[in-house]
Amino acid sequence: MNIHEYQAKAVLKEFGVPVSRGVPVLKVEDAEAAAKELGGPLWVVKSQIHAGGRGKGKFKEAAAGEKGGVRLAKSIDEVKQFVKEMLHNTLVTIQTGPAGKQVNRLYIEDGSDIEKEFYLSALVDRVTSRVSFVVSTEGGMDIEAVAHSTPEKIISFSVDPATGVMPHHGRTVAKALGLTGDLAKQAGVLVGQLYKAFVTADMSMLEINPLVVTKQGELKCLDAKVSFDSNALYRQPKMLALRDETEEDAKEIEASKYDLSYVALDGDIGCMVNGAGLAMATMDIIKLYGHEPANFLDVGGGATKERVTAAFKIITADPNVKGILVNIFGGIMRCDVIAEGVIAAVKEVGLKVPLVVRLEGTNVDLGKKIIAESGLNVISADDLDDAAQKIVKAVKEV
Ligand code: ADP
Ligand code: MG
Repeated sequence: MNIHEYQAKAVLKEFGVPVSRGVPVLKVEDAEAAAKELGGPLWVVKSQIHAGGRGKGKFKEAAAGEKGGVRLAKSIDEVKQFVKEMLHNTLVTIQTGPAGKQVNRLYIEDGSDIEKEFYLSALVDRVTSRVSFVVSTEGGMDIEAVAHSTPEKIISFSVDPATGVMPHHGRTVAKALGLTGDLAKQAGVLVGQLYKAFVTADMSMLEINPLVVTKQGELKCLDAKVSFDSNALYRQPKMLALRDETEEDAKEIEASKYDLSYVALDGDIGCMVNGAGLAMATMDIIKLYGHEPANFLDVGGGATKERVTAAFKIITADPNVKGILVNIFGGIMRCDVIAEGVIAAVKEVGLKVPLVVRLEGTNVDLGKKIIAESGLNVISADDLDDAAQKIVKAVKEV
């Protein structure tokens, strides 16, 4: 689960992490009071969306002006003008895709006098089973690009959970960033605070880009991106309350209500499969035959007719879906239950695109019979290869 920058900063602040003062703004009318509360003389108006690259992003609407999603304001009037221009308009960044994201929240914060920008992040390293830090002098930039073109500028180290952050970790960061004296000391304290926040709040990722040194000689986190481990949210009610469902894929939210493992993708063939491995294989074979899956969907081993119906509805509600492939191996799951679920769903929501069904396993004959006798326009397939070829062919003919 991701949260907004202003929420992440509020969480980090509780651990003592140095962040700027700021006020979230949801309505144009609140801009003036927020700007006055902060006092200036420099304000930054920041779009709050679950995507990075906001500073270099562009708004779709002409009314939002030429500037990007992060704007420096030098007067209260300018703050008010930016809020009016940005709020409720659509920001397109390298991370949002061409459709962009509507900006429904802004964060107005104290402007900093930046001397230098760095990069610092923490994440769970699956290889070492530890929290790893990644630091670089190349702050405020796309870190993937830095990793690609100048990998030597990225330093990383992991923290032993038995000891936590040690003084040498702080020295490593200070050295990597070329910090000495008091700034080196601040870096050591900061790493300890970030590690504590990361572990206590069950984060899976924490990215500060940029971490800056101000002209006043302070280390400060100017941006903050935080993701939490979804499997630990049950014990993080405070963090769970920060969830903003409007930032998430509506289809994924609907799927989570039915315990379906669903991930929306960019292709045009909707897939309904049981078992994550079979779902991956199904996506692979669709690609092998030259098409792209519209989603990953694992209905699970013990799916009921209701869950199958819900899954089918989610797939058909996706306007990108030009064809559907149902691929079920009936082990714990019975093929007749799947068949009934599919038919119930088709009767309820209609079927505007070709549907290929491949059933195998327990009660397969009964399942096939139910589909054959349903009178619905369903293409039956015998194996995975046959199914993939049939759906790709059917989609091409549409
Ligand atoms: P994003 O990464 O989405 O573009 P950032 O929060 O990193 O958004 O902001 C982009 C840039 O704007 C930063 O690299 C920094 O140069 C500048 N910036 C952000 N916040 C402030 C601030 N409080 N004061 C001064 N400059 C800022
Ligand atoms: Mg940033």
